[in-house]
Amino acid sequence: MDDTDILIAGGGISGLTLAWWLAQSGYRVEVWEADTRVGGKIQSTQQDGYLMEQAASLLMNFRPEVSGLIHHTGLESKKTCRNKQAGAHRYLLHQGQLTALPMRMGGLLRSPLWSLRGKLRLLAEPFMPVGTDPDESVSQFIQRRLGREMLEKAMDPFVAGTLAADPDLASAAATLPRLTVLEKRYGSITAGIIAHRLLRKRSACLTDTFSFEGGMSTLIETLANTPGVQVRTGYKLRELVRSPKGWQARAETPHGEYQLNTKKTVLATPAPVAAQLLDNLDTELAELLRGIRYAPLAVVHIGMQRKHITHPLDGTGFLTPRSAGLPINGNLWMSSLFNGRAPQGKVLMTTYLGGARRPELLEYDDNHLLNQTLQSLQPLLGLQSDPEMVQIQRHTQGLPVYHGAYQARLQAIEEKMHCLPNLYLEANYQGGVSVRDRIARSYLLAQRITAELPITRTYDKKDNYAPTLATDSR
Ligand SMILES: Cc1cc2nc3c(=O)[nH]c(=O)nc-3n(C[C@H](O)[C@H](O)[C@H](O)COP(=O)(O)OP(=O)(O)OC[C@H]3O[C@@H](n4cnc5c(N)ncnc54)[C@H](O)[C@@H]3O)c2cc1C
Repeated sequence: MDDTDILIAGGGISGLTLAWWLAQSGYRVEVWEADTRVGGKIQSTQQDGYLMEQAASLLMNFRPEVSGLIHHTGLESKKTCRNKQAGAHRYLLHQGQLTALPMRMGGLLRSPLWSLRGKLRLLAEPFMPVGTDPDESVSQFIQRRLGREMLEKAMDPFVAGTLAADPDLASAAATLPRLTVLEKRYGSITAGIIAHRLLRKRSACLTDTFSFEGGMSTLIETLANTPGVQVRTGYKLRELVRSPKGWQARAETPHGEYQLNTKKTVLATPAPVAAQLLDNLDTELAELLRGIRYAPLAVVHIGMQRKHITHPLDGTGFLTPRSAGLPINGNLWMSSLFNGRAPQGKVLMTTYLGGARRPELLEYDDNHLLNQTLQSLQPLLGLQSDPEMVQIQRHTQGLPVYHGAYQARLQAIEEKMHCLPNLYLEANYQGGVSVRDRIARSYLLAQRITAELPITRTYDKKDNYAPTLATDSR
């Protein structure tokens, strides 16, 4: 039977970045991916000259771990930054019109998005008392701190459109950790933001929105080719058994069964898969994982002639509040955001449907999803013809939604994991769903593993990257 230092089951962005960090320290790492390709949710596809993303479309970064990884993988030269001129605005749907969301306080106070009463309520935020309920929902938290208008017009579309969650059910502490931490640390979100702005003036890492030449798959391919990491596709982890040195793992592979001895094993799979694999080790732990809800998502890409759309598409796209009653959660103007996404004179737009707000939409066929998309976009963007290119992707388990007493669930999972030494969980159901959060979180786990496992240095790399970073993942 073969052996390795660390086995990672799951070759999505969580598993691959963890493998990258560990390989930098010289460990022998194997990644088993059940599918025939790596990347998990992330996949860039091409059709008729359009370049599309089936999940993550962009990386919005302010974390030094991400900058370090991009730099040291050599991906800096392949970064494609947001086209700031063409994609300057972020729109919200407000009273049937796309209205630019102001990004600064002055603009916010002049914006037609909020009533005078709503604006006064925003200004009162620093004087609101600090909350005490650890299970407060996003809706309760935002309404308490920023008022009902901010919840309905901005936070509801943001949570539904970018996280596929329901703000009434989503845990504020788990879903908006940065905002809840600001309240805890500074007594107010406004005071926290001002303090952070002042600190950031001295920091090199400002917010940066980007993708890569060839799309997000370029990041995946680069990570999958990390020297020292053995990636095996078509390897589905079936069973884990404790062994004197760590774990014995059994995979189902295209060539039959394969077994491996590992010192440490990481499950970088979706929660239901982790639950299945842990069932025979700890049924209560498996139940906690099984209780994590996933929202389904459909992604509808349409390509059109630029001249057949009346809207200037001068932004990143728009999000829709629940009150608009539209079937779509948001629409990204990919060809405004990044160059090279559509052929000359054409545009690519990506629409998201479903999520916790409208999960039933995924039960409809592609024609229905396309019709719902076009009927929603037509009056807002002035579409004057049918699209010339359509591609539809369905994710039945799109994103984990951090609903209910989520922090308590994660804490219970963590406590139970302490009884299973040398076994770890690392995926987007804990610590954030974004690619940025995945990279930053996997760095923390890599640090933990490095502290626990002496390095054998069977794989040696001359220019090891060992950043000294803060241990706070938020
Ligand atoms: C529609 C959509 C849009 C998004 N947009 C953005 C965005 O613009 N920006 C952003 O930052 N994030 C975005 N995200 C979020 C981000 O893409 C995901 O959270 C992230 O890719 C999840 O990565 P992961 O590795 O945790 O999980 P996954 O990608 O699900 O990977 C898990 C892997 O485990 C494998 N696996 C399962 N069972 C086994 C087994 N038994 N053995 C071995 N392998 C197994 C699976 O095949 C899969 O490859 C979006 C997500 C979706 C769905």
